[in-house]
Amino acid sequence: MPDNAPTDPRPASGVDRRQVLGAAALGGLGLALGPGKAQATTVPTRIPVTEQRERAVVVGTGFGGGVTALRLAQAGVRTLVLERGLRWPTGPNATTFCRMANVDRRSAWLTDHSPIPGVPGTWKPYTGVLETVQGNGMTINCGSAVGGGSLTYHGMTLQPTEEYFAASMPMMADDYDLLDRWAYPTVARMLKISTVPDDVLAAEPYRSSRLFLDVAPRAGLRTFRVPLPVDWRFVRGELEGRYEPTYITSDLTFGVNNGGKHSIDVTYLAAAEATGRVRTEPLHVVRDISLDLLKRWVLHVERINTDGEVQERKRIIADAVFLAAGSPGTTRLLVKAKAKNLVPGLPDAIGTQWGNNGDRIFAWVNMNDDPGRPQGGPACVGGRDPNSPIPYTIIHAGSPMLPPDGTKMMTVVGFGIVKATGTWAYDSATDDAKLTWNPAGDADLQTLIRNRMNEFVRAGGGMMIDRDAQATSTWHALGGVPMGSAVDRYGRVLGHRGLYVLDGARIPGSTGACNPSMTIAALAEHSMATIVRQDLGRIF
Ligand SMILES: Cc1cc2nc3c(=O)[nH]c(=O)nc-3n(C[C@H](O)[C@H](O)[C@H](O)COP(=O)(O)OP(=O)(O)OC[C@H]3O[C@@H](n4cnc5c(N)ncnc54)[C@H](O)[C@@H]3O)c2cc1C
Repeated sequence: MPDNAPTDPRPASGVDRRQVLGAAALGGLGLALGPGKAQATTVPTRIPVTEQRERAVVVGTGFGGGVTALRLAQAGVRTLVLERGLRWPTGPNATTFCRMANVDRRSAWLTDHSPIPGVPGTWKPYTGVLETVQGNGMTINCGSAVGGGSLTYHGMTLQPTEEYFAASMPMMADDYDLLDRWAYPTVARMLKISTVPDDVLAAEPYRSSRLFLDVAPRAGLRTFRVPLPVDWRFVRGELEGRYEPTYITSDLTFGVNNGGKHSIDVTYLAAAEATGRVRTEPLHVVRDISLDLLKRWVLHVERINTDGEVQERKRIIADAVFLAAGSPGTTRLLVKAKAKNLVPGLPDAIGTQWGNNGDRIFAWVNMNDDPGRPQGGPACVGGRDPNSPIPYTIIHAGSPMLPPDGTKMMTVVGFGIVKATGTWAYDSATDDAKLTWNPAGDADLQTLIRNRMNEFVRAGGGMMIDRDAQATSTWHALGGVPMGSAVDRYGRVLGHRGLYVLDGARIPGSTGACNPSMTIAALAEHSMATIVRQDLGRIF
């Protein structure tokens, strides 16, 4: 930093309200979370401000961001990738991530407390792996690390059928054939997906998965093994006692220490960086996006340290900006830009058509047969009723926290297609956007899922406890910048050259009764092929 670099004129020790992130709930693996205490960070005395010029900038390193960075790089475009979170390198017996039994500050994005109710612990806020975003009527859990949600997701990599895809995203229905023949298989290849092998499924920790496969058909479901981006040799290493248990105890919510998970940081993003054209900057939080007088895109970025303290402010001017900050991240940036008129003329649909992919988490307890403990993961078995008038999927995810009194328990999760009735509105007090979710959006689906859960009880005994009954949460946030009314089918923001949305924010509420990551990535592949062909050299 040169001595004459400009500094930020704001007061030396005031609270930067945009750093204040409250957390209220974390639904990972069915664990509802307690109310959070917002934590403020102070602004250091003199914050340098720098300016830089870029051709293309990608914001976020999850599924949308990883695909975008790779395809830009392969098209010869020097690309800057901005990510608010940290890199988390893994390997056999690494201790990179915290464990469920010993949750610490690595678990959560800039909050001061344990995200799990009943688990004591407060700490100095840290740039941990999961952000909880509190809305009205809904709490979102999403990734906050290099690799986005792929570090903390289970890895269920499901492609919807054509019919269900079209029901979720009618405007993309004509493209399903191309997605099916090329984009989905490309994602499958990049993430090296496979299903649980017989020897692993037969192992003792996978007793609960076998129980699901046994009971689900009697509850009217056609079962299947879930495709996962997992190198099963690592799971075998745990089964043989060579590696510390993570997979075989389903202790996956805060990341997989041993590695063997083909997350975005070690697949798409690593391939992008290997071209030499992509530079990833972790701990870079994009606060605002604006258009300058020359109609160039300006990103207002804070470089933070791991305590969340601002170290530097950057104005990054770009010809093209690819927003891939996830549904909550991208939506918040654009709702703010619209409300503050930082980007005049943004579509009115921004902040609309948000949904939760129909998530509902149940604890199945006291069933007839013993599901065993620990319960292995990732979630490797599921079921569907192909004749159901409302499409849905039910999966079993092993629980890393089983009742200490020995109560038999399994976590069973349902999801499907919802009406995307959620909306985001700007709140000037926090300089942020907040979600309001109307439960009517998934009422029909939830009734159906509850009925199906009752079928499980009839077939296998015990009872189902609806964990979302009190506080509704999701880890499948989708929408907020919907296709058709806010962006075109390739993610171009309507009326705004060089601004793109290539993540889950553009998918209105659900991905065809499947977990969303594969569809987010496949759509990004599909869009980037066209953007590279049509916009490269013309717009950026
Ligand atoms: C516990 C859990 C389990 C899940 N399990 C599954 C599963 O098994 N299968 C499945 O398909 N899906 C699963 N999901 C959902 C899946 O992770 C998301 O749908 C997916 O990651 C969304 O992809 P994306 O590209 O839209 O955004 P993300 O993957 O969320 O990436 C967005 C990135 O942008 C960054 N970012 C956000 N705001 C800013 C900003 N202002 N400045 C800079 N960077 C920013 C974030 O840190 C993040 O890295 C799970 C999610 C969770 C939380």
